Amino acid sequence: MYPRVIISSEKLKTNTEKVVGMAKPYGIDVFAVTKVFCAHSQIAQVLLKGGVKGLADSRIENLKTLGHLGVTRLLLRIPMISEVKEVVRHAEISLQSELATLRALDVAAKDLGVRHKVVLMVDLGDLREGVLPEQVETTVRAIEALEAVTLCGIGVNLTCYGGVIPDEDNLGELGRIATDVEALIGRPLEYISGGNSSSLYLLENGKMPSKINQLRVGETLVLGRETAYGATLDGTYDDAFILEAEIVELKEKGSVPKGKIGMNAFGETPHFEDRGKILRAIVAIGQQDVVVDGLQPLDEKIDILGASSDHMLLDVTRSDSAYAVGDILAFKMDYSAMLKLFTSKYVDKVLESLL
Ligand SMILES: *Cc1c(COP(=O)(O)O)cnc(C)c1O
Repeated sequence: MYPRVIISSEKLKTNTEKVVGMAKPYGIDVFAVTKVFCAHSQIAQVLLKGGVKGLADSRIENLKTLGHLGVTRLLLRIPMISEVKEVVRHAEISLQSELATLRALDVAAKDLGVRHKVVLMVDLGDLREGVLPEQVETTVRAIEALEAVTLCGIGVNLTCYGGVIPDEDNLGELGRIATDVEALIGRPLEYISGGNSSSLYLLENGKMPSKINQLRVGETLVLGRETAYGATLDGTYDDAFILEAEIVELKEKGSVPKGKIGMNAFGETPHFEDRGKILRAIVAIGQQDVVVDGLQPLDEKIDILGASSDHMLLDVTRSDSAYAVGDILAFKMDYSAMLKLFTSKYVDKVLESLL
């Protein structure tokens, strides 16, 4: 069934082993972030085979589906108060920054008769989630007063809203804050969580502050790309995930529409490059399923012209292949394309079995 995403278990496992192997000499555990592939259970299992210590996701619905794997599940998005019951049921650890939520979580954990672990997020400049450094002490004291919630770590998230790059300064500060918190609570913290795929370059250049012992990694596992500078890590694959879509029309047509140009399907006034007469293919996928700008045809002589909700238009004039209606075209994808492809129920996902 098309369209579909084919996932290479071998390439995915190689990417994972590479990242886990880079982190290991530093005493850093890698938690695999599953949100970009909507916590597809078989893909999560490949990442576990590759050596990740636990699974992390922003959405509790996703963590719920990973329960049968029996591994530690970390909730990434600071939870809604309205979902705390689900959080204590389906996540062993969660990231937190609000006392009101922590208190509601404590009640929910007591009601269920479980202990729930939390990582306090500290905002070191990126301005997404987290308490400010000067609020850490009072917040930690308040968490320590809770009965069923245990503070097990502190963490930071960078390069998400503000684009701030992790470095020796901000992650060094996280390390110092961790040392202060450990002194305050009188026990070591299990996790000093130093960010996402944008922190990996610090492992490559040997500049990761020693106190950091956990990273939460998504993009580099699936696309082999570190995200501070956008470099592909040596020995990883950027094509472990391939989109396949089917040609439903193939005709020679003009490249500039005929008639008065108004708005397109998305309320924008389109502009067209005049390529003269072209051989143009329509493939059966659209903006409902994918971020078209995030796709790259494997046939490098194909250009993507654009898409409506469910038709993607391609210029195949220059291609060396003689395509026909019914042929399948293949594409590499970026993070935003992958996110949308996995979220679309109209796109099949197929894992090549482990060799
Ligand atoms: C999404 C997310 C990650 C993973 O980010 P990548 O760039 O995919 O590695 C890590 N931490 C948090 C809090 C996240 O929301």
